Amino acid sequence: MADNVLKIAGLKVAYGGIKAVKGIDLEVNRGELVTLIGANGAGKTTTLKAITGTLPPCKVEGTIAYLGQPLNANKSFKLVEQKLAMVPEGRGVFTRMTIHENLLMGAYTRTDKAGIDADVDKWYAVFPRLKERSGQLAGTLSGGEQQMLAMARALMCHPTLLLLDEPSMGLAPIMVEKIFEVIRDVSQQGITVLLVEQNAKLALQAAHRAYVMESGLITMTGDAQDMLHDPRVQAAYLGE
Ligand code: ATP
Repeated sequence: MADNVLKIAGLKVAYGGIKAVKGIDLEVNRGELVTLIGANGAGKTTTLKAITGTLPPCKVEGTIAYLGQPLNANKSFKLVEQKLAMVPEGRGVFTRMTIHENLLMGAYTRTDKAGIDADVDKWYAVFPRLKERSGQLAGTLSGGEQQMLAMARALMCHPTLLLLDEPSMGLAPIMVEKIFEVIRDVSQQGITVLLVEQNAKLALQAAHRAYVMESGLITMTGDAQDMLHDPRVQAAYLGE
């Protein structure tokens, strides 16, 4: 098995004249929780979209390999079959389906009904709010509840790699804590995670390794705990 779950080399993305990503290398190894932090507009979401093949028409250069194989950028619908799950910024739940249906959709590639039922119960136990509202349309949930649902749905496929785009965005502090607790648990269960976050402190506390992105380039990388104590990171991203 490949040691690298994800390997990005020389990635460049330009939206017309706007160079959003200017040649980055990034690796996520099996079992790692890696975070990509950086200010607004640094190119983090663009990088995730390049991985999932969900960029709008634009110029893309470089290579992205998943489990040692190049990812075909045009086949994003196959990602779940390849056990690559993404929770996009803004959640992306199926708003006109119920919570329960959303969870089952996450497991559409699986055939083990008993296992699926057990996983649904597990997520209802983790997020009791979802259980209470299981028959309700997902579009009626609050932002935080939709975030929980999006995360649970992504995990229903038992991903090898989980991509998370700003999971703490717009959430109340208590929800943020809960979401990060789940991210840490997921990582401890051996799922490989690439976490894009603006809350650098929480992200670095949870991660094994980190990359800092500024204006389309990776400007720093290293052990997440070391970066928490790096004066440059503290000054730029931790408000210290
Ligand atoms: P944020 O944390 O604010 O989401 P980000 O680091 O995820 O920021 P991106 O969303 O990747 O940054 O954006 C990088 C740059 O590319 C920004 O300057 C943005 O304005 C630009 N950009 C993103 N999407 C498009 C698009 N569809 N068309 C044109 N420019 C875009």
